[in-house]
Amino acid sequence: MTSLFPHLQAGSNDHRPVARVSVAVERGIDRYPDGLAYALPAALADVVIGERVVVPLGRGNTETVGYVIERQDGPPSSDIPDQAKLKPVLRRDREGTGLPPDLVALARWMASYYCCPVGMALAGVLPAAVKKAVGLVSRTLVDLPLEGDVPTAPTAPPTPAAEGGGGEGGAEGPPRKVRLSPKQRSVLELLRSLPANERPIELRTLAERAHLSTPAPIRGLIAKGLLDARKVTAVEAAWSGEALDAPPPPELTARQAQIVDAIAGTLDQGFSSHLLFGVTGSGKTEVYIRLIERTVAMGRAVIVLVPEIALTPQTGGRLIRRLPQCTVAVLHSGLTAAQRHQQWVLVAAGQAQVVLGARSAAFAPVPEGRLGLIIVDEEHDSSYKQDQAPRYHGRDVALRRAQLSGCPAVLGSATPALESWHNATVRGVHHLHTLPERAPGLRLPKVEIVDFVEEVRARRATAPDRRVHLLGPRLERAIGETLQPRDGSAPGQVLLLLNRRGYANYIACADHTCGWMMQCHHCDATMVCHLDARVRRGAFVRCHHCLSEQRLPEKCPRCARAVTVFGLGTQRVEEELARKFPSLVPGKTMVRVDSDAMHGLRDLHATLHRFGTGELRLLIGTQMIAKGLDFAGVRLVGVVNADTAISLPDFRASERTFQLVSQVAGRCGRGSDPGRAIIQTFNPDLAPIALAARHDYVGFARQELAERERCGLPPVTRMVRFVVRDRDLEACVAAAETLANGLRQIARGLEGGEAVRIHGPAACPIARIAERHRQQVEAIAPTAVQVQRLLAAARDEGIVRPGEGLAVDVDPVGMM
Ligand SMILES: [Zn+2]
Ligand SMILES: [Zn+2]
Repeated sequence: MTSLFPHLQAGSNDHRPVARVSVAVERGIDRYPDGLAYALPAALADVVIGERVVVPLGRGNTETVGYVIERQDGPPSSDIPDQAKLKPVLRRDREGTGLPPDLVALARWMASYYCCPVGMALAGVLPAAVKKAVGLVSRTLVDLPLEGDVPTAPTAPPTPAAEGGGGEGGAEGPPRKVRLSPKQRSVLELLRSLPANERPIELRTLAERAHLSTPAPIRGLIAKGLLDARKVTAVEAAWSGEALDAPPPPELTARQAQIVDAIAGTLDQGFSSHLLFGVTGSGKTEVYIRLIERTVAMGRAVIVLVPEIALTPQTGGRLIRRLPQCTVAVLHSGLTAAQRHQQWVLVAAGQAQVVLGARSAAFAPVPEGRLGLIIVDEEHDSSYKQDQAPRYHGRDVALRRAQLSGCPAVLGSATPALESWHNATVRGVHHLHTLPERAPGLRLPKVEIVDFVEEVRARRATAPDRRVHLLGPRLERAIGETLQPRDGSAPGQVLLLLNRRGYANYIACADHTCGWMMQCHHCDATMVCHLDARVRRGAFVRCHHCLSEQRLPEKCPRCARAVTVFGLGTQRVEEELARKFPSLVPGKTMVRVDSDAMHGLRDLHATLHRFGTGELRLLIGTQMIAKGLDFAGVRLVGVVNADTAISLPDFRASERTFQLVSQVAGRCGRGSDPGRAIIQTFNPDLAPIALAARHDYVGFARQELAERERCGLPPVTRMVRFVVRDRDLEACVAAAETLANGLRQIARGLEGGEAVRIHGPAACPIARIAERHRQQVEAIAPTAVQVQRLLAAARDEGIVRPGEGLAVDVDPVGMM
């Protein structure tokens, strides 16, 4: 935001207040709902909403940065004591850190909806890299002064310029006596000899080329007026999409064309929301691309959200290739801070037509009035939910943003979240568009459910070894046939999913009459055994909640007998694969993809690239590999154990299991061969597994929604989850009881409050993490409005103060 009155900024001392402003500071001060009040001095009269300013905070008047979120013109009234005492805004923060007004409005909505301080919501909007000016470089450019500006002629005679840049440097007129050092003379000579296109030149480069050890001689010349200097600030260019040949666009199916036309018809009609429900491989991306083209043709910009993990160069590259006429900005956590900053500036300057990113790209600073469409791909994905304050859901923030900016939003998925499905089919909030078939040439894979109990029996009968086999005979055979087909056809690639990291998730005494099982000292959870060649005995144990680590004990601490490990883990499957298939070499032809093995997104991207080239034949991983991957060579997808989520005490366990099995099965058959999916389970008849195998989302959604309705659970109702944390158990329980009672009292006073249910307090499923006890309280209400009224009243009355000791999660996704 450029100031219109730069002369009024620094150094001006016109302190007369001309307006009152509300400033939201980024500290977690819960001043609900409006920031802190300050007086705006005349010198800063042109400060607008969304700008960052420096204000004095607290008794010590600590200089603190905050956002202007509201402004009321006119001098504060001296009759009103509160206004007379207002402290003044001190100055502006650095330029380029302001936010457009619609983003300020979005942050204020988040603060109220997700129950967090408005400053915290705003802090989440602006990337730290922009705030801290990472990658921002300040350079001094120097040049010879223009003729006429020159106060003196230097001592040396003018040198003819090399490439027609002459005349400018050699000043005419009577020489005046200016003392120049030999170094300074050589600088001037060098500068005159430079071709015009190399001037002005950066001060440091000039010093280097003149072989100076310090820039002091040049600064001397600037001081004497013999050189012009100006400072420029720019963000280092750091990222650009690869320019690749655009493939010819595929022809749309009749159904795709119909959907594109229906949604495109709403592009200039203000806000609307659409759910694009299409089976995996049905060509949702093609629908997105056509909609993007139409929006860009109208001179407007598009934000595309994808789950963080799906944000591979594959996704970005495909979009960039298909939209060669567009500048695509990419925002995700795999970028360096400087790259993030550069991409942000590109968007803020209105130079990007398309912004592609993970959940935080919902805050991309598209200039006001320019946003034409928001797309949320794989909208069901749980990575859209931020698991720390502000606990927002990227999809829901995107919908709100579209509403504030007056443009359509398109949510796409093969397995829509029940929230979105309910909104589309029951509440009529979203328009529903369905792509029921795979794109021409693609067929859905054949999904085989394997009863693991049978598999174990079969294994015992044929080869009675006492080893643990996580791969049953059927999956094992299928892997062998895919890697090396007996009929001589081309070998295929394999994806194996097991949603559990590590080697084994139980460490216990070998003597079960003793009953010792290893628990984390800091949490109420079992420790997980991890293999690591670098440690003694080749293994250590880790807690997946507080991340504390220990050595694997040699003996049971109770009875001194041996210790065994059992249970599932990706490392154990990897070990078994290497043992059974000599062609699978860890790290060479087979890679484990989970958060232990992958060090950041770049590592993941590199691995997926190697899988794409065919160098890797098999990936074994957690749900990281179930998301949005699209590789034509995959002929077999295996789920080692589909039951890992189903037994969790979480009302979304069925939904998650259905999504996982459907999504992972959808990863195969992207080429001409439909491929096979094999699902190992101890519960073959369980609805989410059986229905996922039949690709029956609608049937699953009907059944599951009926169940939620029966239990009064979201999405039929709305929920807030409060988690009280304290090192002291009694204090924790007492605080949770006070909270629950306070909420009950408020609910009684609300209109329709008898329909609001407050559950708890009760211990969380994981009752202690990192030494802190955890008690939960749940509030369930028929509508979002009732939830919001309850929260607003609870904040007003000081019953709910989100912070260290209390986490407030509105529309929670995880219940552990
Ligand atoms: Zn722990
Ligand atoms: Zn024991």
